[in-house]
Amino acid sequence: MSEAIKKLYPVSMSKLEEVLGKENLESISKYLHAYDGTANTIKPVAKNITIYLMARATDRLIIRSEGEDDIILSQIKGETSPTIVFRKLKAVILRNFMELMRNIWGRYGSNIKKEIYRDESYDFYNKCSISPGIAGEGRGVMHGRCMKCPVDVLMGATSAGTSYNLSSRLIGESFYALSADYERLTSNAVDEVTYTTIMLTERREEERREEEKREEERTGALFTETFVKPGTMFVGKTVLFMPSPTELLYTLWLLTRQIRVGARTSIWGSLSITPVVVVADLYEVGSSYEAAEEAFGVKDEAKVREKVVNYVRGVSYVTAAQTIEVTADIINEIRKVDVLDEKLAKELWRNAKDYVSGVDSYIKSE
Ligand SMILES: [Zn+2]
Repeated sequence: MSEAIKKLYPVSMSKLEEVLGKENLESISKYLHAYDGTANTIKPVAKNITIYLMARATDRLIIRSEGEDDIILSQIKGETSPTIVFRKLKAVILRNFMELMRNIWGRYGSNIKKEIYRDESYDFYNKCSISPGIAGEGRGVMHGRCMKCPVDVLMGATSAGTSYNLSSRLIGESFYALSADYERLTSNAVDEVTYTTIMLTERREEERREEEKREEERTGALFTETFVKPGTMFVGKTVLFMPSPTELLYTLWLLTRQIRVGARTSIWGSLSITPVVVVADLYEVGSSYEAAEEAFGVKDEAKVREKVVNYVRGVSYVTAAQTIEVTADIINEIRKVDVLDEKLAKELWRNAKDYVSGVDSYIKSE
């Protein structure tokens, strides 16, 4: 195990050992990366950790994406598979990660500012936001990314205000449903403010002057939507490029939970996600489409797990670390990780700060 990793990430390494087990951690450690603030540590190195996941719809799910129909469908073995594009999941993971970092900043922000950034003017709360930049009148850009925090450093960010962009080191592939079951429902449009079928729209107010109480403008129209049924199983994949131990730990934690992915987060679409296999290698291993082909038609979670594990073993290279099957014990250990722990959280922020220092010294050395 590299000395730099042990020295820079002691808390994360000990937590990862508790979660994955000593032997598993040793086998993947040569594909974990240490960021120490030097230019060399941010140069791309062949180190990838592929995480296969399964997901179970825990509610009716609309998985509409911009510019597409209600549902995106793929063909697997001649059957139709409802598909969740990774962009959608990444948006949810990014939002969850940002919210978690704000909670941590609320607890330890003033110390992180002093001890890690050594910059009193840096305030994550008001410097970093996922909302797109809005140029306010005479006030410049009101929102944007800080380009310094753990979220930006792992998930990528761009800003007009810095001399660098951060590419995402968390990438992935679509999640494919393992059955062709989906249903179409027709309902009344319900206003999200009044929770009635009476739509309070600006347009209606204006038109009332011309035509008093036009009935069809008062009630929502009938509409049809396509849903994935609760209980539907999905298989997908995400890849971490050059992850530090802390980034791997927080990612595993974020990927072991119930998330909302519906077209309307308030109403439709929760998904329970669980890691199934972790494989570390020079490059990413296998594809989620092929894994879904292997497991298509299987409904039982344990059997899905078995199919995916067998698939990954079948496509692994000799350079790969041992395939880590994410057992029920490992899942329990992931759930037990206290991500709000001060020492652990500080390793994550220190990692981000050193990543950006590395980028800075790389630019200066050019
Ligand atoms: Zn940021």
